[in-house]
Amino acid sequence: MKRKSGQNPDITKSWKPATLAIRGGTARSEYGETSEALFLTSGYSYDRAEDAAARFAGEQQGMTYSRLQNPTVEMLEQRIALLEGAQACRATATGMAAMTAALLCQLSAGDHVVGAKAAFGSCRWLTDTLLPKFGIETTTIDGSDTAAWQAAIRPNTKVFFFETPANPTMDIVDLAAVCAIARAHGITSVVDNAFATPALQRPMDFGADVVAYSATKMMDGQGRVLAGAICGTRDWIDNVLLPFHRNTGPTLAAFNAWVVLKGLETLDLRIRRQSENALKVAAFLEGRVAKVLYPGLQSHPQHALAMSQMAMAGPIFSLYVGGGRAEAHGLLNGLELVDISNNIGDSRSLMTHPASTTHFGMAEAARLEVGITEDMLRLNVGLEDADDVIADLDQALRSIGR
Ligand SMILES: *Cc1c(COP(=O)(O)O)cnc(C)c1O
Repeated sequence: MKRKSGQNPDITKSWKPATLAIRGGTARSEYGETSEALFLTSGYSYDRAEDAAARFAGEQQGMTYSRLQNPTVEMLEQRIALLEGAQACRATATGMAAMTAALLCQLSAGDHVVGAKAAFGSCRWLTDTLLPKFGIETTTIDGSDTAAWQAAIRPNTKVFFFETPANPTMDIVDLAAVCAIARAHGITSVVDNAFATPALQRPMDFGADVVAYSATKMMDGQGRVLAGAICGTRDWIDNVLLPFHRNTGPTLAAFNAWVVLKGLETLDLRIRRQSENALKVAAFLEGRVAKVLYPGLQSHPQHALAMSQMAMAGPIFSLYVGGGRAEAHGLLNGLELVDISNNIGDSRSLMTHPASTTHFGMAEAARLEVGITEDMLRLNVGLEDADDVIADLDQALRSIGR
């Protein structure tokens, strides 16, 4: 493998994100293929037994087994690291594999974690159920309240864990302030940046230590594969994450890595257009439903903070239709264009009822505490013409008498 494109780090350093998303990490085989090659191989062969021994001893560069390295996966890892402005990245099979590995690789029994209450359902399961099972204490707080992070710190606090914007309440965490509190106490901040992606927000620019992704969402962006990624310093990835990752095996399949590489090529274009569409759709819904939660709207209580750390507000938002589950399900059932689906980040517009789907596993009291009520719906605005999405929502709203 040679690296014709992106060989000279002095030149690639100046490349802008849209360029990195297409060219970052590309390595070419002897055939000089323009599109990244897909290496479907579980293992690698060696010319001589001594070469195998040298590779396992780390004395010779090269791959040994696809749980540990794969050329296609490595291209994706380098591309994501470049987009993130991170020293290193490791891909995982899913976003949840990324979150689990990013936490478990650095925690031991007796440690303490502070997490934001507003989070993806499975991320809450990690802090509420999995970590305590292994003797790791957790405290969940209102992540949008910066003082609450400071107040939750204990002598054994090792990690701050949060999303911004959070799924599905669209709460914003002040990245610079919260990461600074973590740094001042020797705490590692782990940011789940799935909603924004590096195209809209780079948490490390605000002091985050570790950034983890569900690449299933905007990075693939076309609803095809599951994938995840973890970014950090070279030292953290090599010495903290890798021993866990290599031995437990949440490895990304080469085919899925290849699909996400193709997805990244259009990430910048897609997320900008989907953010524009989402803003139009959110503005339409404001006034037609009880409340819209979109950081791109002036009405969002943290609009100014969101726009100070995000380039655009992204494709996803939530709304309170007013009433209860009957109204929310009624609106979903009235849709003709928008699909009822719990995925997000897709180029198709998708809508779900978090209380009965993505956040069904959360205790009802915990759901209500963060605002996941029976009349809440979450919408991923796709690449369709925004006017068609608006017309569909309009007719579905009329079908429930709004
Ligand atoms: C979807 C999602 C995850 C989980 O990702 P998977 O790829 O589905 O495992 C984690 N965090 C957030 C914020 C998500 O939206």
